[in-house]
Amino acid sequence: MNIKNKKEIIRLESIQGHNNKCHIKIINFPICKGKGGYKFLNNKYSSDLIMDKMWSCKGPESIFSSVMGFIKKKHKCPVCFCIFEEINPAFDVISVRIQIEDKIPFELEISMPMVICKKCNKKLIIRKTEFTYQMELALCDAFDKLEIAYY
Ligand SMILES: [Zn+2]
Repeated sequence: MNIKNKKEIIRLESIQGHNNKCHIKIINFPICKGKGGYKFLNNKYSSDLIMDKMWSCKGPESIFSSVMGFIKKKHKCPVCFCIFEEINPAFDVISVRIQIEDKIPFELEISMPMVICKKCNKKLIIRKTEFTYQMELALCDAFDKLEIAYY
């Protein structure tokens, strides 16, 4: 075993970032700790990858409203398909478990305006750029604070 290249994987209990109305807490985040500071595991677990992971969740696993129509967009619940005639987002919190490559799961706690489905009580983030962009920037903010290096 080459001691020089030894990487220690640690868990960061809580990293927090925010942007505008979105506050994200990343819990138990796996990261490499080396001489030069923190590094992402194999250039993964960055904000882009985390967002991709959340976008790819479908049905009951989804945290975003579904959108139908192009000109006059309507949002609906991805679980029970209830259509939201009115959207009045209110501050709430959801937890999301992120698992990348079937290993080392961690959690996100997202606080921001969201809607609750009247039919099935599912909490959903409105699939609108103003909200999803804030999520991306909040994740970037959390990682920027730690000055994590890429490989
Ligand atoms: Zn529903």
